[in-house]
Amino acid sequence: MPRFDFHTHTRYSDGTSSHAEIVEAAVVRGLEALAFTDHGPELKVGVAKEKMSQMLEDIKMVEEEAEIPVLAGIEANVISRYGVLDVEEEFIKKIDLVSIGIHDMEEIYLSDEAHEYLSRAVRAIERQRVDVFCHPFFYNVDLLPCLSWDEIEDFVDLAAEKDVAMEVNVKYRVPSDDFISLCLKKGVKLSIGSDAHRASEVGKIDWALSALKRVGAKSEDLIFDNFR
Ligand SMILES: [Zn+2]
Ligand SMILES: [Zn+2]
Repeated sequence: MPRFDFHTHTRYSDGTSSHAEIVEAAVVRGLEALAFTDHGPELKVGVAKEKMSQMLEDIKMVEEEAEIPVLAGIEANVISRYGVLDVEEEFIKKIDLVSIGIHDMEEIYLSDEAHEYLSRAVRAIERQRVDVFCHPFFYNVDLLPCLSWDEIEDFVDLAAEKDVAMEVNVKYRVPSDDFISLCLKKGVKLSIGSDAHRASEVGKIDWALSALKRVGAKSEDLIFDNFR
């Protein structure tokens, strides 16, 4: 199973390390590839709009020196129920990995929250290129139990059709084995993310590797294969 980490944050958003420190940690941990995915600008802690091009230049610099492939990515926020992202098309064209995350839910009832989350995810995937869906259906708690199996299956079918990978997220330990198995069955690729906010957390992906092993995932089921 390839070891890679496609979900890391630097000081450009709410992380505490620099790009160089993250790459160094990734190499020390024996990763085969790494992606930077700082939060988009609409999240309070996200990268400032005026710093986004500087951020890409920084990534380019470390990428040139790095011993492993380094991808320039973003963890864009889905900011409305219409699936709008907080990054512009122009920016998306310049990066290697478009990850999306849903972070600011306000519903009072968990079931409403789960359905609002689902509708944002569906619309986001329908309207633009998305490579990875981060910590699927996790917002404070796992929202999947609030959705029907049919709803979940329809969503996974859409992800398969649109070629969106689901992330196995180490920080929140989601999604469940059932969900990962369903993704495998439907041909949805899987990504691995530590969701590291400091260099010491980069590449700590054992939980994800165990989950992938439990459900019988193979190397070709991982999005990493697209970048070889
Ligand atoms: Zn996130
Ligand atoms: Zn994150």
